[in-house]
Amino acid sequence: MNSKRFISLARWVGAATCLAGIVTFYRTLIHANPTTVALTLLLLILFIAANWGLRYAIVTSIAATGCYNFFFLPPIGTFTVSDPQNLLALTVFLITSVFASRSSDRIRTESREARARQGELEVLYRLSRALLQTDELVQLSNSIPASVALATGAKDVLFYLLDGDRIYRSGADWTAQPGTDELKELSFAPGITPSTEGDSIVPLRTGVRPRGVLILSGVQMSYQGLDALGGLVSISLDRAQGIEEVTRAEAAKESERLRTLMLDSITHELRTPLTSIKASVSALLSSELPAKDSHELLTVIDEESDRLNRLVAQAMEMAQLDTQEVRMTFSSQTLRVLVEESIEENKAALALHPVTINLPPGLPTVCADPIWIQKLLGNMLENASKYSEASAPIFVSAEVQGQFVACSVADRGAGIDPMEQALIFDKFYRAQNRAGTTSGTGMGLSICRAIVEAHGGTMSVTSQPGLGSVFTFTLPVRG
Ligand code: ADP
Repeated sequence: MNSKRFISLARWVGAATCLAGIVTFYRTLIHANPTTVALTLLLLILFIAANWGLRYAIVTSIAATGCYNFFFLPPIGTFTVSDPQNLLALTVFLITSVFASRSSDRIRTESREARARQGELEVLYRLSRALLQTDELVQLSNSIPASVALATGAKDVLFYLLDGDRIYRSGADWTAQPGTDELKELSFAPGITPSTEGDSIVPLRTGVRPRGVLILSGVQMSYQGLDALGGLVSISLDRAQGIEEVTRAEAAKESERLRTLMLDSITHELRTPLTSIKASVSALLSSELPAKDSHELLTVIDEESDRLNRLVAQAMEMAQLDTQEVRMTFSSQTLRVLVEESIEENKAALALHPVTINLPPGLPTVCADPIWIQKLLGNMLENASKYSEASAPIFVSAEVQGQFVACSVADRGAGIDPMEQALIFDKFYRAQNRAGTTSGTGMGLSICRAIVEAHGGTMSVTSQPGLGSVFTFTLPVRG
């Protein structure tokens, strides 16, 4: 016997036992007047209607009327009613009990429906939270069946997306999974097919355009609940698709902007050394120059070729750091050695500036790739000299900050407007301070920041226009 039938049988037996109990109680133990008996029987009927349902209450009402007549209305022990007053009482009892049964059953049904609606709202809320967790369409599509199954308590969920003819499932329990042709057909179905026992089928739509179908097995939800669930899944798909499209469009726009900036910046920076080289070569070719002049022109060619070389190297470094193609080899490094070597390497650029190194004794070693840190320091020292007047001093200092060593390069140069301080680390951005007069591409600081971040550190600037700037980067202490 299944549990439903068992419950039903238990209720019938319960109703009969209670009725018999009341009759026995008033017949043998307490001899109350017929009104008290009628009210007690009515109480039982109300209880049955409110808790078990209308059909139990109606049958009990009829049986109670019979018992009331047989055991409590004279002549007792017969179904005949001698007094017309009693006949009226009996009729009123029957009508009251049936009417009260119906009212109380309606309240019971309404409160059950309200509870079910509340449960469905909770399901939808849980689902909406789960679906909002990802903005990526592929990830979202993969997570939909599991999220729907978790929120609704469905045994299995199958999600079919027309776009790409893809099927996603939550469980592996589909004994007879519908084929794609059948799923396609279900996606075009005009409405939802709810089912409490089998599979509930929910076609998904964007506006009127079919999008796919959700099949939930063993779930108890109303038509409206399933409709809202389908709407929620469709909206989350639209949202993820919309975000992806916007992101793609923005990425394309950004890449176009960077390409233009790069072309502007590099062509401008290439033209100057190329013009010098061309002019020097033409001068060398066109006339017999004294040895001193020829040497001067050859020095120009040499220096400008170095500049070109540096420019191309910088562009390549930036591209490599961007695509994370750079392999860094971290080892224990002494900051003082790195600083001194960088100053030595850039002595030509720093020729006009006194450089003071102020590193505390006992500074811990850092975990760093020496080649890349020297590029970083070289760039910062070069900027400090480039953006300050000749003979302005430059200071290099460091201190321990928790698990990091912070190293700063300070100058007494042009400084940077506060509005521009966050922007100078962007690719190709050149601040207004000396951008017109000092050569540069705007790649240096973005390379510096990428190098520091690859080491797990951070890079920042504090600056006051006219007074100077302090650029600081942190590197992790060697553990
Ligand atoms: P570049 O020096 O080639 O222009 P960077 O990326 O190295 O490019 O620097 C970006 C911008 O930041 C520079 O154009 C300059 O305006 C500003 N800047 C960098 N370093 C300093 C500094 N030490 N003092 C003042 N301004 C600086």
